[in-house]
Amino acid sequence: MKAVSVFPETKTLKIVEHAAPRITQPDQVMLRILDVGICGTDREICSFEYGTAPEGYDYLVIGHEALVQIEEVGSAVESLQPGDLIVPTVRRPCLHPGCRACRSEHQDFCYTGDFTERGIKQAHGFMTEFVVDHERYMRLVPPNLKDVAVLVEPLTIAEKAMAQVFWLMQHRPPWIDPETPGSERGYGLNALVLGVGPVGLLGAMVLVSAGFKTYVYSRELPPNPRIDLVSSIGATYVSTQTASVGQLRDQIGNIDLVYEAVGHSHFALEVLGVLGINGMFVLTGVPGLQAFIESDPARLMREMVLKNQMLFGTVNAGPEAFAAAIRDVDIFMQRWPDAVQSLIAGRYPPEQAFELILRRPTGIKSVISFGEARP
Ligand SMILES: [Zn+2]
Ligand SMILES: [Zn+2]
Repeated sequence: MKAVSVFPETKTLKIVEHAAPRITQPDQVMLRILDVGICGTDREICSFEYGTAPEGYDYLVIGHEALVQIEEVGSAVESLQPGDLIVPTVRRPCLHPGCRACRSEHQDFCYTGDFTERGIKQAHGFMTEFVVDHERYMRLVPPNLKDVAVLVEPLTIAEKAMAQVFWLMQHRPPWIDPETPGSERGYGLNALVLGVGPVGLLGAMVLVSAGFKTYVYSRELPPNPRIDLVSSIGATYVSTQTASVGQLRDQIGNIDLVYEAVGHSHFALEVLGVLGINGMFVLTGVPGLQAFIESDPARLMREMVLKNQMLFGTVNAGPEAFAAAIRDVDIFMQRWPDAVQSLIAGRYPPEQAFELILRRPTGIKSVISFGEARP
């Protein structure tokens, strides 16, 4: 069985012949891989900046944003059957009895760092033909979403962030009543997304559909299909090349929420300086090595205190975020079918995986396809 793999020690990329897996425990399922999306994490792994092979292997099978179909189920599996479409979660818990996060199925908040991640850290990923995994990590997807369900995993980033934002907003201004329908919780508030990659664009969809007046701020200038996408969902695009952060703040008014999806520290810090009263700033991008810059932490601290601001980072996602992402992909498809479909640049064979991962992204999300769903 072929598998798209990285050899971190020898710094080589290769499609290897990988042994086909077998079900060995009653709660396991055999997955036939359909689609695997590629993202910046794959680019880092294939540039040997990140990524660890599982114990006993000198290579790591990559791929973590998967849509799969159940091929076979173990004797104790109750909730799934062959033919079901599934998005598997990525992170697997650490084994420490004292890790309260992992012991409560929230390995996305793992304390020890000894978790594994499929396709990223000490566990093989999904860019292969078949994978065996446990029932409890599988998230069922309705068949009508099969063409776009590969977007579920990247969408979980925004869903986890927004679940925390809304929880906080129920306990501090604007004191949203928990009974307020999801589509109205952001009503009257301004949200700003930084970046027009898949995480940023999916984040903008979450914010618009929650009722926020949503702006997207990034480097690109029109004409650009990503800018068209921003406009088509009812958000406003502003280019960093035509408006400074000060001008942006004047245009928006009080910036209630910033959803950062670039991973550029200077840019994030600059925008943090214009965050509004009672504002929340969510960081999702992971910066690589970047040049040191001068900054004024005393001013930043003064502003954050005097304006009741919050800043938090978020990574990976738990069961609730996956459930929310599956529900929202469905809602987005009803509301903006063309925009959602245009998030997928194209489907390509595994042989093209490395080339697509390593070249600068031309489309929005490229998908490696291992086959069609069976009826
Ligand atoms: Zn990813
Ligand atoms: Zn843990």
